[in-house]
Amino acid sequence: MVLLIIGLKQLLTFKGSAAPRSGGAQGEIGLVRNGAVLTEGGVVRAAGTEREVMRHPLAKKARAIKVSGVAIPAFVDSHTHAVFAEPRLRDFALRTLGATYAGIKARGGGIISSVKAVRRQVPVKMVSQLVERAGRFLECGTGTIEVKTGYGLDKKSELKTLTAVKAAAARTELEMLPTLLSAHAVPPEFKGDSKKYLRYVLSQILPEVVSKRLAVFADIFCERGYFTPQESRFYLNACRTAGLIPKIHAEQLSNYGGALAGAGAGVVSADHVDYVQKKDMPAMRRGGVIATLLPASNFFLGLARYPDARAFIAEGVPVALATDFNPGTSPCWNMQFALSAACTHMKMTPEEALCAATINGACALRAGNRLGSIEPGKQADIAVFDVSDYRELCYYFGANLNKMTIKRGRVVYNR
Ligand SMILES: [Zn+2]
Repeated sequence: MVLLIIGLKQLLTFKGSAAPRSGGAQGEIGLVRNGAVLTEGGVVRAAGTEREVMRHPLAKKARAIKVSGVAIPAFVDSHTHAVFAEPRLRDFALRTLGATYAGIKARGGGIISSVKAVRRQVPVKMVSQLVERAGRFLECGTGTIEVKTGYGLDKKSELKTLTAVKAAAARTELEMLPTLLSAHAVPPEFKGDSKKYLRYVLSQILPEVVSKRLAVFADIFCERGYFTPQESRFYLNACRTAGLIPKIHAEQLSNYGGALAGAGAGVVSADHVDYVQKKDMPAMRRGGVIATLLPASNFFLGLARYPDARAFIAEGVPVALATDFNPGTSPCWNMQFALSAACTHMKMTPEEALCAATINGACALRAGNRLGSIEPGKQADIAVFDVSDYRELCYYFGANLNKMTIKRGRVVYNR
């Protein structure tokens, strides 16, 4: 099918290198006024001004749709925990009364309460929940998400989670890239013995996940009371050797050494990184590590402190933005909110934030060659918003401004 999208007031192409954008390049958006995009077979054939694109030989036989608004590459949400059984409403209520992350954990809440719920959940329900959530992502202009396990924490439940992701992916247009996050917390039956638990994951869960090709990435929660930097590096190296691409949850609650451990293990991204120190940033840059910032969780937890996006950009570390959609600390699937929070709380410019939510998010999933920009050869994943100027996307908040989502050259959401 040949599709021609015309009538765009602005088109942000982010054309250029498939590598993550950093420093000054993080603010380059490839703005085209009076834009149009031509796609064929799910791939972009031309993108530019309407006049330019109409001259393409394929334009004559295309099905043309006129959409007034601003088009950008569909969001690539590179960090979610979208498979869960139920929201943690008790934690939420406790937090309104002043309880802390650690206090909630001590009272039986936090990750472990989600684990109990996922272990109980029947597979068919997990699939239908994820398919329903996938629809919400598409509705908000997201075309691709990463999805982590980590609420099963035993072989049966982690595999059940990954199998549910695979089954759900067959029933939605949303692209979902799975991550093995069995190292999310030490499950109660291991009584705090993190080393013993990691040995169990590496010997019992990882081989089957790899042989059945159920995950693309491996991730670990490097934090006091969870897994140490040494354990994280050892574990991620083992996962990388087995064929998974490593990622790390680092420095979310304290400066603990996760960013350097991640760089040492060759992670594609270090995520959260609220407490990373400036002196550690050059090692991230040299290691090609993307800093994936998750401001929706800071907002939801009511934290005064946000990750230092300006320092990462100044140090030449590419910044990606993601929702961290999860049942405990970020019940938000709308990347438009991440854009707003990035500008208002982390002083990113709208241009930098949009780059972080598209091409840099794609790079954080090692998919920068295929996703995250609108240019010939790229997958035709496009979101059109009901605004006249792209900066409105970062300015209005608390609403969904998306009017159309196109995935692989097909309209999959139309308001
Ligand atoms: Zn997370």
